Amino acid sequence: MTAKIISGTEIRKQILEEIAAEVKEIKEKHGVIPGLVTILVGENPASISYVTLKIKTANSLGFHEVQDSQSPDISEEDLLALIDKYNNDDSIHGILVQLPLPKHIDEKKVLNAIDPDKDVDGFHPVNVGRLMIGGDEVKFPPCTPAGIQEMIVRTGVETSGAEVVVVGRSNIVGKPIANMMLQKGPGANSTVTIVHTRTKDLAAHCKRADILIVAAGVPGLVKPEWIKPGACVIDVGVNRVGEKPSAKDPGRMVAILRGDVDFDAAKEIAGSITPVPGGVGPMTITMLMKNTLRALKMSAGIA
Ligand code: NAD
Repeated sequence: MTAKIISGTEIRKQILEEIAAEVKEIKEKHGVIPGLVTILVGENPASISYVTLKIKTANSLGFHEVQDSQSPDISEEDLLALIDKYNNDDSIHGILVQLPLPKHIDEKKVLNAIDPDKDVDGFHPVNVGRLMIGGDEVKFPPCTPAGIQEMIVRTGVETSGAEVVVVGRSNIVGKPIANMMLQKGPGANSTVTIVHTRTKDLAAHCKRADILIVAAGVPGLVKPEWIKPGACVIDVGVNRVGEKPSAKDPGRMVAILRGDVDFDAAKEIAGSITPVPGGVGPMTITMLMKNTLRALKMSAGIA
């Protein structure tokens, strides 16, 4: 059996079309549009490329997009004052601070200063708590886990009663996706196990999984024989394993990316599987846009 390939690129396209249509409708009916500010401190090349992609996506959806670039020397006090300014700006519904921040700034303090109702990344302790409670309490599910859940649901995989095994217990992927899948409600209702570096028999747990979500950051960690025939496999891992000449511009070298699962062998056993790249990767910014639209709807009282 060859697995159905779950294309994040395709699902992203569908979701962005849905968001653009909703933005247009809200603008016509209520005269408001989502506002997103991206705060970039310094000139880290990876951060610049992430922020550029976020801005491009927001603009393509008709958002009000503010790019606020600050010098790497900005003081913590001035950065906190900037956050406060956007917390009080009614045209801004989502505030995004691109990490990492320079060493002299306390990242936690800055992220905790964001109004939880504008925290579209979903990392503020208030939003982590809301996610834990579940149901209507949830305002902004963190973007990568939200993307994973959306992929599972849109692939038509049954989650209710399913054995979900999550490999990895990070705060940005493992813990939140495990928490989301066990909640009562559509796209969830699963029986969830989290495994990690101290787990005694990783293989035995993975073999039980109807839905296997792997976010360890270890290339090829999950062996094909650990996959239950027909399982849905979501490979979150993005690992640089080398370089190759770019297909578009052979003079330029680009990273060779591999996931945490041996894709070629696993696709012969799984029922559905995400590739790397082109799987979970494209979903994160997409869900950030969805959260920003949700923030606008919350602030404008639009159902
Ligand atoms: P992390 O390093 O914070 O956490 C990794 C987790 O995996 C840890 O809890 C650790 O206990 C577990 N782990 C590591 N090695 C293990 C092993 N040998 N056996 C069992 N468990 C093991 O990483 P993260 O931030 O959660 O990211 C995980 C991977 O997902 C990385 O490759 C990262 O690049 C990728 N990622 C992708 C996206 C995206 O595509 N949008 C977003 C976030 C993270």
